[in-house]
Amino acid sequence: MPGSGRPSPPPPRPPWVLLPSPALLLLLLLVLLPGGTLRSGLDSAVGSEVNLLDSRSVMGDLGWIAYPKNGWEEIGEVDENYAPIHTYQVCRVMEQSQNNWLLTSWISNRGASRIFIELKFTLRDCNSLPGGLGTCKETFNMYYFETDDEDGRNVKENQYIKIDTIAADESFTELDLGDRVMKLNTEVRDVGPLTKKGFYLAFQDVGACIALVSVRVYYKKCPEVIRNLAIFPDTITGADSSQLLEVLGSCVNHSVTDEPPRMHCSAEGEWLVPIGKCMCKAGYEEKNNTCQACQLGFFKDLPQSQRCTKCPPHSYTREEASTTCLCEEHYFRKDSDPPTMACTTPSPITNVKKGKVAKNSISLSWQEPDRPNGIILEYEIKYFEKDQETSYTIIKSKETKITADGLKPASVYVFQIRARTAAGYGGFSRRFEFETSPVLAASSDQTQIPIIAVSVTVGVILLAVVIGFLLSGRRCGYSKAKQDPEEEKMHFHNGHIKLPGVRTYIDPHTYEDPNQAVHEFAKEIEASCISIERVIGAGEFGEVCSGRLKIPGKRELPVAIKTLKVGYTEKQRRDFLGEASIMGQFDHPNIIHLEGVVTKSKPVMIVTEYMENGSLDTFLKKNDGQFTVIQLVGMLRGIASGMKYLSDMGYVHRDLAARNILINSNLVCKVSDFGLSRILEDDPEAAYTTRGGKIPIRWTAPEAIAFRKFTSASDVWSYGIVMWEVVSYGERPYWEMTNQDVIKAVEEGYRLPSPMDCPAALYQLMLDCWQKDRNSRPKFDEIVCILDKLIRNPSSLKTLVNASSRVSNLLGEHSPLGNGVYRSVGEWLEAIKMGRYTEIFMENGYSSMDAVAQVTLEDLRRLGVTLVGHQKKIMNSLQEMKVQLVNGMVPL
Ligand code: AMP
Repeated sequence: MPGSGRPSPPPPRPPWVLLPSPALLLLLLLVLLPGGTLRSGLDSAVGSEVNLLDSRSVMGDLGWIAYPKNGWEEIGEVDENYAPIHTYQVCRVMEQSQNNWLLTSWISNRGASRIFIELKFTLRDCNSLPGGLGTCKETFNMYYFETDDEDGRNVKENQYIKIDTIAADESFTELDLGDRVMKLNTEVRDVGPLTKKGFYLAFQDVGACIALVSVRVYYKKCPEVIRNLAIFPDTITGADSSQLLEVLGSCVNHSVTDEPPRMHCSAEGEWLVPIGKCMCKAGYEEKNNTCQACQLGFFKDLPQSQRCTKCPPHSYTREEASTTCLCEEHYFRKDSDPPTMACTTPSPITNVKKGKVAKNSISLSWQEPDRPNGIILEYEIKYFEKDQETSYTIIKSKETKITADGLKPASVYVFQIRARTAAGYGGFSRRFEFETSPVLAASSDQTQIPIIAVSVTVGVILLAVVIGFLLSGRRCGYSKAKQDPEEEKMHFHNGHIKLPGVRTYIDPHTYEDPNQAVHEFAKEIEASCISIERVIGAGEFGEVCSGRLKIPGKRELPVAIKTLKVGYTEKQRRDFLGEASIMGQFDHPNIIHLEGVVTKSKPVMIVTEYMENGSLDTFLKKNDGQFTVIQLVGMLRGIASGMKYLSDMGYVHRDLAARNILINSNLVCKVSDFGLSRILEDDPEAAYTTRGGKIPIRWTAPEAIAFRKFTSASDVWSYGIVMWEVVSYGERPYWEMTNQDVIKAVEEGYRLPSPMDCPAALYQLMLDCWQKDRNSRPKFDEIVCILDKLIRNPSSLKTLVNASSRVSNLLGEHSPLGNGVYRSVGEWLEAIKMGRYTEIFMENGYSSMDAVAQVTLEDLRRLGVTLVGHQKKIMNSLQEMKVQLVNGMVPL
């Protein structure tokens, strides 16, 4: 009765709240507190997530405001530890036009520009409500409002920005409650970029029956980590969901680097793609992510060395962290000797005596040193004509005498001798100078008779030697001209070994007049013999055309014609014709053949055989997957054979790449592009290095990039890259990695992974070509032999590098990422939170990681991945995987 003073009865409660409260509470507890342990405090890191607010862990009042007052209400319940459970509920489903707001207190974003909100709630199914269907809703809205401080909670509703409408995946009926099945929904939304110091959240109910059980607000970070001896600090992820933040690492104590290492922090809080590393400085070695001093008796001389090594014989250290070992008393090491060399007592050879001297030879003998510091294994005798030190000869001998022959008459020669024991070489003796005898002039007819006789004899012997050399069947490699089983002799010029008896390439630069070189090596063709048909390409100096060459008395030939554009400078003409001067010296079925040049009329032209299929990279891309393995190996064999010929000639190509191989209609591959400058001005792939030269980084051996050491062995490295290009049908080596990243990755020992469906034998050969130590790489004649064997025995090509090892290379134990291997497409998609597409991928044949690696944006659209954010996420992950594929390979 009104006014009777009795408290008025409470307003009728919504239907589901009428359930016995302890039962509901127990259910909530079961859901919220599995094992009663899930209460995490503010700021605690859940993996890489950092909480800004967790309503479950606030012990006192949450300070949230509801309006109108009869909308959202807090259920003041406690858990088994008497800690409050902040659950808000609203259930005005029977009434029209509901607009109930619940505002949180101010939440500082602590510098994060993207935050995540995780809601746990239950929602009543409208169908199960008798009579409420007209007004009942099954969603609510979430908003936020940014401010720098706590003022501003009371701004108008329309100033709040909507984050999303939240619907339940699972609503429940009274029946469910009867069965005690609580359907708790978890929804996560993210907001960013945030620009102020903090924000309020608001939940708007428009007539649903909701219990908001918990609200957790957090940001993600990449947690501090030490990788490759560099410390990467705690890093808050970027504002954009697909952003990778590049973070510089700092080297751990006692480590150094040329360039600070970098890593990338993903929006998901994972560290990706480490580039570069720190190295323990000299005197320190790596142990458990730290640099530890070398112990006594151990040393490390360079940061690049992996471990501290024991001091060599007769040396020691006085302190830890030594960079070198000191020699014991009476033992010495030369300044020029490496610190790994044992300290020895000196054993110099002093007593060198001249023996028989002739006009072309000098015999020497010497005595074994008094205190030889071990058994002498051999002597090394270095000699050269006085004042001609750059061109010297070395003879190795096990005896204490030699005869140096092939000398010039009446010339002074300088000799130096050193001994080698198990401890290494001793120092060279001082220089000894001896002179050959002069030639005596023939003065009478009588003296000529023996000279003629000698000449005939020498001629016969020479002929026998030449025939012997040819019959010996030795076709390549360098020969150590053995004089005596105990002696071997090698000639050096400017540090290079000179090969006897092999036709060598002559650098046109050595001609004073470059025109002379052209005419020595290239035939002049009358312009009237050439008919140009069409333009087929663009060269550095002008157009490249196809046409026909008809020289009187000869068969008409299809030819390619390179022209020199009008207005050229003298240097351009010289460089243009330089290629002909080089090409004209070669004659091999796998080297592009020069027909001749036109220099007497304009335009100046270079005429070569015509290669119908043009350059190999373009041809392979156009015919992706069209050839048998044997056909591909045939192409590679041809290229290797051409390169063997060039290396035998002493010519280093420096720009071997599929784009510089031409292929004809019979699929015969020929090496081309013999630029004279070889600074590779004409190659768009060539990039300037720090040392100023221009180098096609992806194809070039590390020693050639680092210190311009171009040799046939660096050509072998490039050949390995060409193999990879061929087997992958023209894929770009290292994909879209930058040149700098390629250099780093290769320096750190990473290598390109096997192309798909690649015979294991071919991939092994590629890896051999990419040995860091250039002397360990196969020579071109060995490569030809290996490929010939594979062609003769095609079953040896059946074993492929299997997909699982390719994928395990992706993220295997060598992976700089060091995280797990994606064993399935499902696992990968789950990992990038795109698990919903697993079925679609599988149904459309993308059932393996190899197949997935081929997916394009177009494919994604076709598969029905229409959300741009999802497309981005999947494509970014694929791109990262490709980079990791490169990084994931450490075979050496
Ligand atoms: P180059 O200046 O040698 O790089 O040549 C430019 C382009 O012309 C090459 O990429 C080929 O597509 C084409 N080309 C050059 N030489 C020949 C040839 N002998 N036969 C067919 N196409 C050629």
